[in-house]
Amino acid sequence: MELFDSHAHYEDAMFDKDRHERLDALKDSDVRYVLNCCSDVSVFDTVIEILERHEFVYGSIGIHPHWVCETPENCLDLIRNYAKHEKVVAIGEMGLDYFWKEPKDLQERIFREQLELAKELNKPVIIHDREAHDDCIRILEEYKPRGILHRYGGPVEHLQKAFSWGMYVSFNNDLSYPAWKQPHIDCLMATPWDRLLIETDCPYAPPYERENDRCESSDVANVVRLIAELRNVSEEFVAKTSAENAKRIYGINP
Ligand SMILES: [Zn+2]
Repeated sequence: MELFDSHAHYEDAMFDKDRHERLDALKDSDVRYVLNCCSDVSVFDTVIEILERHEFVYGSIGIHPHWVCETPENCLDLIRNYAKHEKVVAIGEMGLDYFWKEPKDLQERIFREQLELAKELNKPVIIHDREAHDDCIRILEEYKPRGILHRYGGPVEHLQKAFSWGMYVSFNNDLSYPAWKQPHIDCLMATPWDRLLIETDCPYAPPYERENDRCESSDVANVVRLIAELRNVSEEFVAKTSAENAKRIYGINP
C-alpha cells in the first residue's frame, strides 16, 4: 500500500526534538508522501527546512486563524516569497476558528487575503473551519477556490456546495472518536471517491485508542482502515484513490 498523508505538522514544537528522525523512520511504513501544512510566520523557515531535507515531503505556507493576532503586517509578502519554493504546493492552512477567541473580523480579513493570494499564485488552498461553518462556506462561495476542506465535519449541504466547484475534503482519525465522529462520518458517506483525501493532522488527533499520545503520519493507516470499513471497500482501494487525489490537487507527479 502507498499512503499519502495530506496534512501533517512536523514543524510543530512537539516535534522539536526529533522531527527529522521521525520523518526518516517513515521509510519503514507504507507512507510514501507527506504534505507538511503550516500555521504561522514563526515556523515558515522550519517548514522549508523539512521540505529540503526530506524528498517525499511537500509543503504549504500560510496563516492559521488561531495565529492571526501574532501575524505581522507584511505577512502576505512573506507568504508570497516563501511560496516560490518549488516544493511549496499549496497555501494554508487558512480559514475561521470560532472555538478560540481571536477577533472574527481579523480572522476574516487574513482569510480573504490568503484566498486572493492563492488565486494570484494559482495554488490550491487548505481550509480550516472550526465551529464557523456558515461564515466559512459563505466566504468560500465568493472565491470558489481550488483546494481542500481539511478535517471537515460541518453540514453535508455545505460540503456538497464546495464539491460543486471542485473542492476536495480530507478525513483523519476523528472518525474513531465516539464523542464526535458522527458529523465526520456523515461527510465521508457523502464524498465522491474522486474528492477524498486522508490525513493525520499529526502530532494532534491520534487514533482514539491512543488519545493522549502524539501521533505521526504512519497513523494514516488507521484512517484507511476506518474508511474501508465504513464504505465497504478494500484498504488498497482507499489508499490508492486518496493518494491519486492528493497528487492531483497538489500537482505532484513523480
Ligand atoms: Zn493543520
